[in-house]
Amino acid sequence: MDKRDYYEVLGVSKTASQDEIKSAFRKLAKKYHPDVSKEPDAAEKFKEAQEAYAVLSDENKRKQYDQFGHSAFTNASGGFSGFEGFDFGSMSDIFEDILGGMGFGFGGSTSRRSSSRRARGNDVLYHMTITFDEAVHGCKKDINLDITEECPECDGKGGFNSKTCPDCHGSGTITAEQRTMFGTFLTKTTCPRCKGKGTTFDKTCTKCSGTGQVKKNKTITITVPAGVDDENRIRLSGKGEAGTNGGPAGDLYIEFTVKEHELYQRVEDDIYIELPINIPDAVLGCKKEVPTIYGKVDLTIPAGTQSGSKLKLKGKGIENVVDHRKGDMYVVIKVIIPTKLTKEEKKLFENLKDTMKEDKGILAKIRKFLNN
Ligand SMILES: [Zn+2]
Ligand SMILES: [Zn+2]
Repeated sequence: MDKRDYYEVLGVSKTASQDEIKSAFRKLAKKYHPDVSKEPDAAEKFKEAQEAYAVLSDENKRKQYDQFGHSAFTNASGGFSGFEGFDFGSMSDIFEDILGGMGFGFGGSTSRRSSSRRARGNDVLYHMTITFDEAVHGCKKDINLDITEECPECDGKGGFNSKTCPDCHGSGTITAEQRTMFGTFLTKTTCPRCKGKGTTFDKTCTKCSGTGQVKKNKTITITVPAGVDDENRIRLSGKGEAGTNGGPAGDLYIEFTVKEHELYQRVEDDIYIELPINIPDAVLGCKKEVPTIYGKVDLTIPAGTQSGSKLKLKGKGIENVVDHRKGDMYVVIKVIIPTKLTKEEKKLFENLKDTMKEDKGILAKIRKFLNN
């Protein structure tokens, strides 16, 4: 299948700035992230967008791409170099940027797998959708994921009875003679038998086929702290993928998507709710029952309350996830102007009108202006 143009994939022009490219990718990443998207080809689209972004966000790669197109990144075997074995760790800087969050940070950089080097395991990012109530009060959730672990059979070594590689005698490299028409050259290459490690095993581990790692399906119970907001993340240190050659495990990040509430709107740690009241209640004042996240509260609406006024219920907002201070709740009053009146109501309003003839303030000014 033909590869789509990277600019087309991100939906930006050839002259797009880095900011435009980033924001285009940000949108696509949110739309197509396989853990949150319901579109059937989300995984494909997500991968395609990641690939396009990886190239276009790098000025050097972008130049090469502008000049040579996709062939700039295609290796001899026809595959796309640099995207095999893609992992979140290698893109963590992008996700850090995209996902924002509470400053937990995307821990440490992750180095690519190498057959011989000790390397930290990849970070894993998991998306979790929770309800408004779960976010506000906190909860426990089980998540299920396939994660790379150290092979229990060989303790992550990949085999049994380590010994010096007989081909390279422990150096990890072998020297080969190459005869050409210009003479004989000696070339050093990585030992194919031990892949540069300098050691081999008497017996390769069959459980992990020598890789030292196995995929394991795990259920982990996550404690969602009270007060988390949309796009916040928590980090579970060392719960990511296993490291290689004794390197430490990566971290597991949980990013939350909080569903909207039918009544409440969250702004930082404050909650807003709209409360419709009728004209007499606004004019004469009244008491109304208001649902807060901590239960019902009787709210006194003073006489003469204007439409759009905000009444504050102190401490009835959301507990801050970091410092545990509570926000406030604001009840936004909306005075309902009736559009249909009964005969009796119409009469009452007309009587009311007769008693309110005196113009004051801005109305008096308008009248004066009209009379001039
Ligand atoms: Zn060797
Ligand atoms: Zn093993």
